[in-house]
Amino acid sequence: MTSPLVGVLALQGDFADHQRSLAGFGLRTRQVRTPAELDGIDALVLPGGESTTMLRLLAVEGLFGPLGEVLHRDIPVLATCAGLILLADRVENPVQRSYGLLPITVVRNGYGRQYHSGTFPLESDVLPSGTTGTFIRAPRITAVTGDCEVLARRDGDPVLVQKGRLLGACFHPELAPGHPVTARFAGMVGADRGTVGGRTESRVAGSGFAVRDVPFG
Ligand code: GLN
Repeated sequence: MTSPLVGVLALQGDFADHQRSLAGFGLRTRQVRTPAELDGIDALVLPGGESTTMLRLLAVEGLFGPLGEVLHRDIPVLATCAGLILLADRVENPVQRSYGLLPITVVRNGYGRQYHSGTFPLESDVLPSGTTGTFIRAPRITAVTGDCEVLARRDGDPVLVQKGRLLGACFHPELAPGHPVTARFAGMVGADRGTVGGRTESRVAGSGFAVRDVPFG
């Protein structure tokens, strides 16, 4: 039996780290840059990066509409940071176009810009204790306006939310030791659980992930 195929939007941003993280859970991945590359995927990841650039490239590639159709198919979706912004019902700072599938309001760069980026403890009943989140010019969820479960908070703010099969994070789960949010997503996809390779973890822990080196918005 082949493992499920996860499409990873690869127009821009942190898609490669998501692919490595997903592979650690035994999932196959495919980079998605064109409508044809959406065919046959079982789940989708919208990575962090720069949401305005992604919106521009989605339009240029003729991908905005086809991606929207796939998002409405009720497949598991992991949307992180800029990806979360794309799914939000309302985007502020400034107002911009979005798919409106998660009933939340997000403020872009709501935790300040690069200087305020970093790794912070999360409060959660569903993630292992001690789980942290790396926030990079992250969106801030300022309102949950509908039926949406809050799975984790940072200093009381919602930072990990789930509505049905849509899982959205303000931070970068693909950079976390042990990858607990990706593990939850892998469970949703129905993958056989694998272990996250020591290489990935030591790369993140050992390199002292430096947020200033991350070349996106
Ligand atoms: N600041 C970016 C935006 O508004 C998101 C940052 C990220 O994805 N790490 O699109």
